[in-house]
Amino acid sequence: MGPPGSGKGTQSQSIVDKVSIIQISTGDMLRKAVSEETELGVKAKGLMDSGELVPDEVINGIIEERIREKDCENGFIADGFPRTNEQAKTLDELLEREKKQIDHVVFFDVPEKELIMRLLARAEKENRTDDTLEVIKNRLIVFRKNTESLIEYYQKRNLIRYIDGTGNPEDVKERLFRAIGE
Ligand code: ADP
Repeated sequence: MGPPGSGKGTQSQSIVDKVSIIQISTGDMLRKAVSEETELGVKAKGLMDSGELVPDEVINGIIEERIREKDCENGFIADGFPRTNEQAKTLDELLEREKKQIDHVVFFDVPEKELIMRLLARAEKENRTDDTLEVIKNRLIVFRKNTESLIEYYQKRNLIRYIDGTGNPEDVKERLFRAIGE
């Protein structure tokens, strides 16, 4: 978990490299669907381009399908979901069915000023249509709107690990591994 630009994708990759489990990114799956112009992609594009969330039932559907696949058998890193309490509840139900449980919920903490700088810098390198200042601001608003109750949801189960997400990725990675005991 963490706001846009907080390093979720980058740090997920560092776990993938160290422990052999896979990463599932709803953002990547949606971007793939958009580029392939599938039915899902066509539905999601406008919402993504304006920084709004794709509806829970759509996300829940793609997650359900994805975690049934064989490569998820040994566990996975959820990157970019759940983003709402509704998604968190569905994830719990799906995990229960698979006899799996959540080990850690990692939250990357980065001040907004730095997030905006990072995302604008990324806009120059990658071609993400949602990395414009206006859309970035909306993504941050949407993030704040859903986060509190989601944190509460996991806090009750003592699963949240706060990580200082500032500084260089190597330092963040060290903090991350310390927090999850790897
Ligand atoms: P970021 O965290 O930088 O915003 P993501 O790649 O995780 O990047 O998400 C990009 C966009 O994809 C979001 O703004 C949203 O429109 C959509 N999206 C991704 N994951 C979800 C999700 N779990 N629920 C709803 N929408 C999602």
